[in-house]
This record gives sequence, structure tokens and C-alpha cells, in this order.
Amino acid sequence: MGPKLTDFEVLATIGSGSHGTVHKVRRRYDGQVLVWKELNYGAMTEVEKQGLVMEVNLLRELRHPNIVRFQHHIVDRRATTLYILMEYCPGGDLGRLVSRCRQTSTFLEEGFIWRVLSQICQALKVCHDRNLHHGRLVLHRDIKPANVFLDSEGRVKLGDFGLARTLNSEASFATTYAGTPYYMSPEVMQGRDYNERSDIWSLGCLVYELCALHPPFQASTHRDLAAKIREARYDSIPIQYSCQLKEMLALLLTYEDYLRPSALTVLHHASLVANTSGRS
Ligand code: ADP
Ligand code: MG
Repeated sequence: MGPKLTDFEVLATIGSGSHGTVHKVRRRYDGQVLVWKELNYGAMTEVEKQGLVMEVNLLRELRHPNIVRFQHHIVDRRATTLYILMEYCPGGDLGRLVSRCRQTSTFLEEGFIWRVLSQICQALKVCHDRNLHHGRLVLHRDIKPANVFLDSEGRVKLGDFGLARTLNSEASFATTYAGTPYYMSPEVMQGRDYNERSDIWSLGCLVYELCALHPPFQASTHRDLAAKIREARYDSIPIQYSCQLKEMLALLLTYEDYLRPSALTVLHHASLVANTSGRS
């Protein structure tokens, strides 16, 4: 039998997200600390609910050191709520880290930025490999600092997986992108299908933001943002960062999706840079 809600003790509320609240919990029988994310499916259509079930099944299969580990799910039918239990990342998310840096006017170390880049690529390499998921590709669709976490050892973990896709009815798409979609790729902006290279574009935006402490393309309206992304021009990152990092950014932010590198190619480039500069 699967776990029950009463098997867990709620320790604290971590925060509220767009789809529900995240709590830190302790499993009573072994004391393990996890988080659970509440998702109310009461207003979902049958099709959306089926999508959610499929997604949970997929998440269960994603076992990778750089992906926030999904543990169980619990359904509370009376409250029409799905609880997703997952690994707790005590280092918090990179969105908070970036705002802390902005507030204190400090920049992140380049070595840290390369580590984030390569560890997210390790995760994406697995997600984007059809052979590992019964011929399906797992697209993250919402790579941004707030969805990248740090564990107690400083390991980088891609999280908030697939929920963006599961809730991908037109209505929830609208809520997902209710804010300005700073990280949206040119092809998605043009109304073309999201593909694995769209994740790479978003990764480029994330790496840029880790350097500059703001996204590469900014505007106050969707239309102005679309225009900026179409021009594909962005200000140079702060001067203390290396040419190799700038070149990497140019690769990730390649306008045409078919010319943009895959996660595997990015890893090759990053390891070459590490070898020639003595970085590990
Ligand atoms: P959003 O819907 O805005 O993406 P989330 O529901 O993903 O928000 O997260 C809400 C809050 O919970 C955020 O502060 C996030 O950092 C935190 N959080 C989410 N997942 C985890 C986790 N596995 N470990 C630690 N904190 C988490
Ligand atoms: Mg999130």
C-alpha cells in the first residue's frame, strides 16, 4: 500500500507557487525530511486529469542526481488534491540566490555558473533522450532560476518538472505565462511547437541571468519582448566573466532552434573549456 497523508508531519510552509503550496514534511516512520506540493485538481477537466496522471508516472521514472527526486504521490479525493512528495533541497532555489546577489550587489563566481550549466545539461541529456522514456521526450518547458535548486552538498537539481507540461491546457498555459515570458524561445514566441532546443534557449537565458543578475531580454509588454527576442541582441555580460562563457552564451542563445546545440553538445563544449582552463 502507498503512503498516507497521516504518515507525514508538516514541519513548515516553504512557499506558495502558481499551482499550490509547498510544505516541508517529515516522514514519521524514518524521520526523513521531504517536501510536498499540493495541487488542487478540482477544476480540471477529465483530459487534464489524465494528463496529470501520465505526468506523475513519467516523473516517477526520472531518477537522476541532477533532478529533484520524486518520491510518491497521494490523492485526497475528498479535497480533490494531489500531493506530490519529493526530495527536499535545503539550498533553496536560484531565483532567490539571484535576488540576494542583486540586493547586495555581488556577482556569482564563474566556476559556480559553469557547474550549474553542466549539471542542468546532465539532467537535460537524460530528459531529451527518447530511448529512455518509451519513445517520448521529456521537455521541462519552464527552466528558470526559480526552478533550479541546491541540495545540502551544493549539488544542482532541476525541479518543478513537467508540471508545466501536464497543466498544458490552453487555460493553464495562459496562467503559466501570465507574467512576461522572459525565457520564451523565438520559435515558441512565433507560435511553433515547443521542442528540446527551446529548453536549451531557456537555459541560455538562465545562464545569462546568473551572470548579469537580470534576464537577457526585457520589456514591459509581450509585444516589445517578442521584438527584442526577434532581434536576438542582448547586452554583454559583466566584464569579469571569461570569453569562453560569452561564447557559450552565444551558442545557447542561437536564434534558429535547429542550429542551437543539444544538451550533449553543450556538455562537450563545457568539458573542453574545463580541461583547457584547469577548471573542474
Ligand atoms: P512556482 O509554482 O512559483 O514555481 P513552486 O511551487 O515550485 O513555485 O515552489 C514554491 C516554493 O517552494 C519556492 O520558494 C521553492 O523554492 C520552494 N520549493 C519547491 N520545491 C522545493 C524542493 N524540492 N525543496 C526545497 N524547496 C522547494
Ligand atoms: Mg517552481
